[in-house]
Amino acid sequence: MLKSRHFRSLRIIVLLIVLFVVVMNTWLSSVRIQSWKRPVWVVLYPINADGQADTQMYINALSAEHFDDINGFFAREGRRYHIDLNPVTEFYLAPPLTVQPPEIDVQASLFERVFWSLNMRWWSWRNDNWSGPEPDVRIYLRYFSPRKNQQLSHSLGLQKGMIGLVNGFASVDYIGTNNFVIAHELMHTFGASDKYSLETNEPVFPDGYADPQQNPLLPQTRAEVMAGRVKVSPGWLLIPKSLDDVIVGPLTASEIGWESL
Ligand SMILES: [Zn+2]
Repeated sequence: MLKSRHFRSLRIIVLLIVLFVVVMNTWLSSVRIQSWKRPVWVVLYPINADGQADTQMYINALSAEHFDDINGFFAREGRRYHIDLNPVTEFYLAPPLTVQPPEIDVQASLFERVFWSLNMRWWSWRNDNWSGPEPDVRIYLRYFSPRKNQQLSHSLGLQKGMIGLVNGFASVDYIGTNNFVIAHELMHTFGASDKYSLETNEPVFPDGYADPQQNPLLPQTRAEVMAGRVKVSPGWLLIPKSLDDVIVGPLTASEIGWESL
């Protein structure tokens, strides 16, 4: 009895130390990223989320070039905000992971979210298979077969953990959309907030619009990265097919430390 109680206290102490180190690391990371003095190192970890053979084939054929669009996006948008870095981001591809990250329900309570976020960091620390330089941000890419007609659950980006969890379809047809979701979640880890209504998915005016000054306002043709969708007409929202039609709006830019001069 006594022994198991001691063991439990020891385990809690070890957990608290690990958490403390993780929190300090994260804090230092955010401060450094927001100063934009050197490129942000991002490691992508592909995961076969549905166990399908076609999902695995897609993952096996992945290379870092599949994510080049995201580099192009950050370089182009960074330049508009006088970020003098080339490149702004660097992506590395880790070997596929065979373990599944902890799940969370969209309707989860605040407590469940906090618990999940700690659990996710713990999971990420325990299952790291990346042997290169220590990344600033880790993005877990959960791939699903597009053949099974499944609805993907929400992707997530944790600023406090410098971790993103992205759900995507394992097909070349979805590379553009997947890269857009990765850019969005990455932005969360840099400190950007969502610019769409959680109830209706509509972009919030004016910060969620790529061209809020446009007259007439609709149809919009480009998306603000944190709004996620383009409002074409009342009741018609489109998810961008690639990052070519996505911009970083002024509010998002200031949230991540990009100042317009
Ligand atoms: Zn978001």
